[in-house]
Amino acid sequence: MLLTTIAGSLPKPSWLAKPGVLWAPWSLSGPALAEGKRDAVLVALREQETAGIDIVTDGEQSRQHFVHGFLEAIEGVDFARRVTIGIRADRYKAEVRPMTIVDTLADEYYRDRRRLAMEFARVINEEARELAVLGLDVLQLDEPAFNVYMDDVRAWGIDALHRAIEGLPCKTAVHICYGYGIKANVDWKATLGGEWRQYEQTFPALAASRIDQVSVECANSRVPLALLGLLKGKDVLVGAVDVATAAIETPEEVAATIRSVLPFVPPERLYACTNCGMVPLARDVARGKLRALAAGAALVRKELGVRA
Ligand code: ZN
Repeated sequence: MLLTTIAGSLPKPSWLAKPGVLWAPWSLSGPALAEGKRDAVLVALREQETAGIDIVTDGEQSRQHFVHGFLEAIEGVDFARRVTIGIRADRYKAEVRPMTIVDTLADEYYRDRRRLAMEFARVINEEARELAVLGLDVLQLDEPAFNVYMDDVRAWGIDALHRAIEGLPCKTAVHICYGYGIKANVDWKATLGGEWRQYEQTFPALAASRIDQVSVECANSRVPLALLGLLKGKDVLVGAVDVATAAIETPEEVAATIRSVLPFVPPERLYACTNCGMVPLARDVARGKLRALAAGAALVRKELGVRA
């Protein structure tokens, strides 16, 4: 009960990629890069274990970007020819799992977002099945686009998620969020008003889905926590660590965020998590936040008289 985990990414060591830069270029190449990625995953696992995180991830050490890293290996995606498109309803001008990939890609073949999403979902599913055979316990999909295209979420977003998790024996999670602490996110969030109610439409669709867990930011978030009640029956990965600030939370602050969610999520369904990926942070800050997360969850477990 009240186990801890993270929303995917951790900062990379400076010998692997340029520090302090989002989507940083690799510092290595060829076989040295492949070896460096594997070594960095071991470091990321060790750092999570040392901090006391219960369910650990690969820290996303082997990909430069959460969409590009996946697309790079797919035949039919032309990486040599990048174009600038507006993504997340023009929130970012940039070139970047199924809906989020589709939103990031300039489609010149299918010309149909739903068909394109289903095709990517099929490819993701192939990879996920391979990971499950290797012993994966939880597959976490990343869908930051789920708070932008609410009609598409209902029309085909959930179907695409289902296609991506088809036949998987492991637990499945989806991370939805309002983004990292980068300027485009911060500026966009400032336009959303005092309450972020986008999930009022997304949560019921996710509650009715076959996804087991939903990861959502709750630390310094303007998502009304009562909305979490709409996720009844799902595990909720409660973001109790803010990734948009270098200030390290105290365990008491983490515990306060977890407590604030308890009226809406029963403790047996609650996992303490980070708001989003920690890749943009300095490594010592990320380590401090991991420790605070574990210590904060331990405080609440103690209050509730439960053991991890
Ligand atoms: Zn996120």
